[in-house]
Amino acid sequence: MLPVVSIVGRPNVGKSTFFNRLIGRRKAIVHDEYGVTRDRHYGETFWNGRDFTVIDTGGYLPNEMNVMIQGIREQVHIALEESDLILFVVDTKDGINTLDKSVAELLRQQEKPVIVVPNKADNEERRFNATEFYELGFEHLFPVSSINGTGTGDLLDKVVEML
Ligand code: GDP
Ligand code: MG
Repeated sequence: MLPVVSIVGRPNVGKSTFFNRLIGRRKAIVHDEYGVTRDRHYGETFWNGRDFTVIDTGGYLPNEMNVMIQGIREQVHIALEESDLILFVVDTKDGINTLDKSVAELLRQQEKPVIVVPNKADNEERRFNATEFYELGFEHLFPVSSINGTGTGDLLDKVVEML
């Protein structure tokens, strides 16, 4: 079985855009048999000669805050069970928010390796601001732009090194 990398984070940070950039034209398999909060997309990709599976978590989440937090918790727990490495995506346009902090708390309670991925770092200023996410308490942080591809190579170098 290939190593598994899961993409987690609150809604709208760009998880699916990032997943699509990694998977490209290779087809994702959708597993939605468990209902909306377990809706997830699986794809295979490779970097530096290493093949691995990527999982995009998420899909529909309700707007109501408590219900949303519950849904995100569930997704993080499933991701932790099935993956070797977690990519914790956050948004450099919005900065740190409460939902990011609750995801961080869940991820810090366990041993799986985590890389923080401040997304939407489309320009120098956003890349610079991405350092604020060190506050979430993780050692590894790689800003990317899923739209223009900036930073994704450095991140993937680290991913395959840690797998
Ligand atoms: P998800 O809910 O975390 O899966 O987020 P989506 O992938 O659906 O993206 C949410 C919004 O953010 C969409 O409008 C995307 O086009 C936008 N987005 C995603 N990645 C980037 C990025 O790198 N830069 C910018 N500027 N926008 C992005
Ligand atoms: Mg999505």
